[in-house]
Order: sequence, then C-alpha cells, then structure tokens
Amino acid sequence: MSFSELGLDPLILKSVLAAGYENATPVQQQAIPAALSGGDLLVSSHTGSGKTAAFLLPSIQRLLAEPAVKSIGPRVLVLTPTRELALQVEKAAMTYGKEMRRFRTACLVGGAPYGLQLKRLSQPVDVVVATPGRLIDHLERGKIDFSRLEVLVLDEADRMLDMGFVDDIKAIAARCPAERQTLLFSATLDGVVGNLARELTRDAQRIEI
Ligand code: AMP
Repeated sequence: MSFSELGLDPLILKSVLAAGYENATPVQQQAIPAALSGGDLLVSSHTGSGKTAAFLLPSIQRLLAEPAVKSIGPRVLVLTPTRELALQVEKAAMTYGKEMRRFRTACLVGGAPYGLQLKRLSQPVDVVVATPGRLIDHLERGKIDFSRLEVLVLDEADRMLDMGFVDDIKAIAARCPAERQTLLFSATLDGVVGNLARELTRDAQRIEI
C-alpha cells in the first residue's frame, strides 16, 4: 500500500518520499491511520518492521496544528530502552520532519553531558527522545516542561520493563497531561506489558502484526 493512502499530510509525504520509501510496511499501514485518528494504540512490532515511522509520522503530523499551550516544552515524547535506539529515533525524526518549519528535536540519554541537553531544553523543542533514567533526572531538576505534551510514545516497552524502568515510566507518565495520546510499541503485549498498558492508556486499539 502506498503512503499516500494513509491520510498523511503532503508535507510529511514529501519527507517520506525523500527517504526513498515506496510502500508502507504492514505495521505502518495499520498504525498510521489509527494514530492519526487520535486514539491510544497498543502495537506488537519488531525491529525492522518500520515501527519507528509508524509512530513518528502521525506524531510529527500533529505538529502542523498550532499548540494549544504556548510554552517551550515538547509536544511529542518518545521513551526508548537504550541510548543507541534513542539516537536512531531522533535521527529518523529529523528525516521525517525535514520539511517542517522550525522543527526541533532533543535527545536526552545517559552517558552524554548534561550541558548540551540543558541548552536544548532552554529553547522550544517539538520532539524529545529519551531514555527513562536521564529523563527522570531532568524532571527532578525541574528542567523540562510537559504542559503542552500531546503524544507519549513507549518504544520497545517490553525491553524497557526488562531493564527495570517500570517505576521511571510510570513517574514520567504521571507528569504528562492526562489528555494525551499514548502509543505503546512492544514485541509482546501480554503479561507485564499488558499491565502497564492498562495503566497508561485509555480505550486503546490493539494492532497485532
Ligand atoms: P524500524 O523497524 O523502524 O527500526 O525500521 C527499519 C528500517 O526500515 C529503517 O532503516 C527504516 O529507514 C526502514 N524503513 C521504514 N519504513 C520503510 C518503508 N516503508 N520502506 C522502506 N524502508 C523502510
């Protein structure tokens, strides 16, 4: 199925075409229209399935609408289990947001100096990609404002739970506005992931590829 059938804005489609993608992958075909409709999603997906574009494209499309709250905090937050994955997701966001005016991202991961991260957070930012531990540090120091957050993405939620991030994830979600869209991607949606999903999502649509 072509990307042009998924309800994406022409500006976003332009970046997708520039990335060289011809057809949407199965997870993209199902998750993109569902996410664009605004509800919560639970998606079973693996690395290599095209899941990153499945959550980034509809999230970035939201940025085309003016923010309801004028502040400098992010409108989209993506949590990932590892620093490497966070860097990859931020890179993908820059690719997909290339056509957007004043599109800004920040990557908040452990093992990287605080200085640059704090500088990014002192200016308006659209998409923040973070590992849970470092994001908690910034939250506790009062350095990040979630008042205009619209989308919370949990990428590889099962791996984040395996790594012991459950309390951090819950603490971060508690700081996000209740009126948000939550997109949870995970290899499995059962067991502890299912419990977390029940706590963090509302009337979520389940997509199993
Ligand atoms: P992911 O599963 O999100 O880690 O994506 C795996 C790889 O597939 C990345 O290198 C993407 O750039 C690429 N990719 C994502 N969607 C598509 C698509 N529709 N067509 C071709 N390549 C894609």
